[in-house]
Amino acid sequence: MYSYRAPLRDIRFVVHELLDFEQNYRAYGRDELNRELLDGILDEGARFAEDVLAPTNRVGDEYGLKFEDGQVSTPPGFKEAYDRYCEDGWITMTADPEWGGQGLPGGFTLAFGEMLCSGNMAWKMYSGLTESATLTIEAHAPDDVKRTYLPKMVKGEWSGTMCLTEAHSGTDLGLLRTKAEPRADGTFAITGTKIFISAGEHDLTKNIVHLVLARLPDAPPGTRGISLFVVPKFLPDANGDAGAANGVRCGSIEHKMGIRASPTCVMHFNDSVGWLIGKANEGLACMFTMMNHARLGVGLQGQGLSELAWQASIAYANDRLQGRAMTGPKEPGKPADPIIVHPDVRRMLLTQKAFVEGGRVLCLLTGREIDSAHMNTDADARRRSNDLIAFLTPIVKGFLTDVAMEVTSLAVQIHGGAGFIRETGVEQLMRDARITPIYEGTNGVQALDLLGRKVFGTGGKSQQMISARIVESMQKFGSLPEVAPLAAELGKRLEQWGKLTGELGAAATRSPDEVGAAATDYLQIAGYMMLGWCWLVAAGVATKKLAENPDDDFYKAKLVTARHYFARILPRVDSHSAAARAGAAGLMALTADQFAIA
Ligand SMILES: Cc1cc2nc3c(=O)[nH]c(=O)nc-3n(C[C@H](O)[C@H](O)[C@H](O)COP(=O)(O)OP(=O)(O)OC[C@H]3O[C@@H](n4cnc5c(N)ncnc54)[C@H](O)[C@@H]3O)c2cc1C
Repeated sequence: MYSYRAPLRDIRFVVHELLDFEQNYRAYGRDELNRELLDGILDEGARFAEDVLAPTNRVGDEYGLKFEDGQVSTPPGFKEAYDRYCEDGWITMTADPEWGGQGLPGGFTLAFGEMLCSGNMAWKMYSGLTESATLTIEAHAPDDVKRTYLPKMVKGEWSGTMCLTEAHSGTDLGLLRTKAEPRADGTFAITGTKIFISAGEHDLTKNIVHLVLARLPDAPPGTRGISLFVVPKFLPDANGDAGAANGVRCGSIEHKMGIRASPTCVMHFNDSVGWLIGKANEGLACMFTMMNHARLGVGLQGQGLSELAWQASIAYANDRLQGRAMTGPKEPGKPADPIIVHPDVRRMLLTQKAFVEGGRVLCLLTGREIDSAHMNTDADARRRSNDLIAFLTPIVKGFLTDVAMEVTSLAVQIHGGAGFIRETGVEQLMRDARITPIYEGTNGVQALDLLGRKVFGTGGKSQQMISARIVESMQKFGSLPEVAPLAAELGKRLEQWGKLTGELGAAATRSPDEVGAAATDYLQIAGYMMLGWCWLVAAGVATKKLAENPDDDFYKAKLVTARHYFARILPRVDSHSAAARAGAAGLMALTADQFAIA
């Protein structure tokens, strides 16, 4: 059974050497966010993730949740870890000081978020959803609602959920039926049943604040008739504490293949009192504040699980003795060599390493833009950062969760038969990872968002903007002999990507099916290109560091991994490009009946 160790050396490499968060904060006039402070957060955060959280991960999977009389009990250790998370101030870290937060930058703290997801992804969901709900209330709710809910939620005394899904309304939220009837006092009576609600009921907090999508009586059909409401489990009393029950009941929890310690609840709302957030019938737009935040959070879950799977794999590959190296014994004193001597095992390990370390750069690069969007004093720069975040969000969510499936599956493979049995723990990672391409908008939906809205919706400008950023990095590092071949390769593919984007744009004018037919492959291409960019920059910085200290193994490994990425992973772009060009006709050729087995 593996144990988790926070990858602090690599996180610091990305935070300081690649992206230089400290310098950015200085440019925004936030000198107090210096390296010492950032490192302090990383060190203490690592301790929390390793010592407090990680020991609960296996327990949560083994023990699961107890459901009795509408109440959910979390696994042993969960409440203690949650209380500690609140008491030690982790939960208030990024929230606005106006509501009791510490105002630390949310982009940088993604590094801590990754550690929490590695430590225990199922546990992290409780506070992660609260954070997303808090941001949504802050952005869209009337002042009195903010005053009532935000101080409690920021402290973690009350938690949050997002209630979108209904039995007949998953991806297609336009179908949802939950009703909101106006009441004389300006509040609304919410009635309906939501399914699959994460953390809809649990014993970690004194109150649970549901953000519920529902329809007003005169609402137009479809997505233009959806409004957003705050519906607490317990109504706030005169002192602002959790008071009378509000007709919100958990009917059951799902039995699932993964994240078994995160309750996935059927939630019944019966004339429950709700407060409107944002304007009537514009609830979906408000909910996007929550969804975009949660989408990055799900990408981070993929990243955290990939890191953990990689750590388990490398430990096992050094320990397990099977066969001899093809070039002769490496450990003649032992009955066999460790499996890390075999090229095929190395192929798997290096692929994991390339995805994990590249994915970390992508997450934190997005984080740097998030901080710029909030803190930059230049309005134009803030707008550019927001455009970049919009483009990167479906990639972080869609690509890094697909990557997590591959990396966790490779972990099982590296463990051989031992990977398939429960004892080693890696099968849990694969099971936990499987939900990440599904929830928060399936990866098919992320792909449509990327190609349809973010690329074609901007007339291709977003793709050109990101390409220009990549070219800047190629110019910065391309003259280094170690980086030049990588830059040439990336430049060639960048040109091909631009051409493909134009071709698909032309095809899309002929039929919208062409967008749907190409979208998933396009998202994969975008993901591989982003990681190509990340690895180019990592190779550039590592080369410069090696010039100062040629024996530094950390930087040597960076260069080897970058070359592995460019030689063996980036070429996947070619097959995805061919598939993206194949068009919709073949996919749409069969009638639904013709699909059936004869
Ligand atoms: C463990 C878990 C936790 C969850 N937590 C929450 C939560 O906290 N709150 C919440 O509201 N929901 C939650 N969900 C619901 C989750 O977000 C949905 O399952 C997801 O959005 C997909 O909806 P669906 O399951 O109805 O699938 P469907 O919408 O039925 O989709 C089935 C398949 O069809 C594809 N598809 C559907 N429509 C289209 C389209 N227009 N174009 C192309 N492809 C399409 C999908 O990509 C998918 O592959 C959770 C689900 C699970 C399993």
